[in-house]
Amino acid sequence: MLKGIAAAPGISIAKAFLLDSEEFVIQQRHIPEPELAEEIARFEEALIKTRSEILNIQKKITEEMEVEHAEIFNAHLLVLEDRMLIEEVIEHLKKEKVSVEYIFMEVLKKYMDIFSKIDDEYLRERIIDIGDVGKRVLKNLLGKQLETIKTQEEPVIVVAYNLSPSDTVTLHRKNITGFITDVGGRTSHTAIIARSLRIPAVVGLENATKKIKNSDLLILDGTEGTVIINPDKQTLKKYIEQQKKQEEFRKRLLKLKNLPCETLDGHRIELSANIEFPEEIPAVLQHGSEGIGLYRTEYFYMNRTDLPDEEEHFKSYKYVAQKMSPNPVIIRTLDLGGDKFVSQLNIPREMNPFLGWRAIRFCLARPEVFKVQLRAILRASHFGKLKIMYPMISGIEELKKANTILKEVKQELERKKIDFDEDIEVGAMIEIPSAALTCDILAKEVDFFSIGTNDLIQYSLAVDRANEKIAYLYEPAHPAVLRLIKNIIEVAHDNGIWAGMCGEMAGEPHFALLLLGLGLDEFSVSPIVVPAIKNVIRSVKLEDVREFVREALKLTSGKQIEEFTKKFLKEVVSY
Ligand code: PEP
Ligand code: MG
Repeated sequence: MLKGIAAAPGISIAKAFLLDSEEFVIQQRHIPEPELAEEIARFEEALIKTRSEILNIQKKITEEMEVEHAEIFNAHLLVLEDRMLIEEVIEHLKKEKVSVEYIFMEVLKKYMDIFSKIDDEYLRERIIDIGDVGKRVLKNLLGKQLETIKTQEEPVIVVAYNLSPSDTVTLHRKNITGFITDVGGRTSHTAIIARSLRIPAVVGLENATKKIKNSDLLILDGTEGTVIINPDKQTLKKYIEQQKKQEEFRKRLLKLKNLPCETLDGHRIELSANIEFPEEIPAVLQHGSEGIGLYRTEYFYMNRTDLPDEEEHFKSYKYVAQKMSPNPVIIRTLDLGGDKFVSQLNIPREMNPFLGWRAIRFCLARPEVFKVQLRAILRASHFGKLKIMYPMISGIEELKKANTILKEVKQELERKKIDFDEDIEVGAMIEIPSAALTCDILAKEVDFFSIGTNDLIQYSLAVDRANEKIAYLYEPAHPAVLRLIKNIIEVAHDNGIWAGMCGEMAGEPHFALLLLGLGLDEFSVSPIVVPAIKNVIRSVKLEDVREFVREALKLTSGKQIEEFTKKFLKEVVSY
């Protein structure tokens, strides 16, 4: 049994599908002397094909955006045209007489190794370009698709060293019933997407890709964070039964769907869902969510080579607005960066991407990209109840600048006589400690706050949310975090605005009790956990929970508070 971090709940039992081994099977085939010329020609063809692919991407980007964004690919072209590299491959090929893809890989690895040792940030970053181009050339040499995972004939559990958020998105509807990664944390975006897609997942297993072999039978328990390799009959039976029980429990909770989200003493709470894709709307409605508290729009920009245009944005926002109407939908503006990377925006790789040029910082520097999205949101606001939310606000200047740009877009629409909701609510995510501590200043400029604990925790405790090695330090109930949350909620109320939470903390039943007692107005959680949170809220009296929180806040460590909270949950909520 392997123990990792529980990333998405549920049990999955299926055969293992190792991603890397499947995608990078490069054989060391012997090539007889007379066929060497043919092998060289194959290599040159692959280089030409790759070059034309890259030129095509560049052309497309240049047509739709400024030229500078296409320049990122110049580095790729340079690698392809590097005579030294090409000649080295040909020389080795003639000497070793093995398949060119094998030689190419070896030479590429050698180059990447040399670059990784150079004490120059810029040159070190070229490893990414070499790797990317290398993948393309290999794809053309092997004549297959490397980027996407094919739909599987029978259900499989994907096992990988890492899956980027964009990889994870492509797992959707491919007969993949679980996933396991060596790296990652509970609030990494890969884990969040797994929950959205309702695919059980365990991350941060450190060496799963070494311990698991292709086609091993696996039991993945995404609630406990465990993986059992080739279980015996008895264990298998136990988990099949547990799987059934979980399904029954899930069905039981779904019966709460049409009941209000209120405490036993009649205190009403707004319970919404977080989504990444419009396709999640049926699941949102099916689980009885009252609205969307966070629509992560950045996924729009992923897995494509161009930028989405205004019409594309508009269509999706209008669809979501209409489907959820009259309930509200909070659209968060572009929050790229950190672990969400998009090549077509030419955001350079940075030393500290979570602290870098990202989210609202990027949008304020590139108002032409920002405005496309704002215009689309405003136009769609005519068709339902939309709200706008800015991510990663660190201080008042940013908030004012964002509001000024929004005002310009509104004026433009007015001039063109295009309908939109003039009273559209605007909110800020509070996910940076500086914002949490100055939220009395920020409150004057917005209609609501939504607390982003995924980032707030990582920034206040200095713990990378995606790093499994320090996951034990990532404590939502750390007194420092609770003090920040308490302050945000109190300040919001003092200023007559509401405070919600769209970070994953709100979706953990025991933490939900803490938040309820702290006075949180809105909980926005992954659609699948909506029923469980409703169950918790409907099981307690607000007065009792307030008393429990007063006691909890007297404790001195995150671990103690978490234990105390779990105990209270057991006492008050029946399952
Ligand atoms: C957060 O940081 O808590 C949040 C909800 O945003 P994201 O997870 O997309 O960073
Ligand atoms: Mg965030």
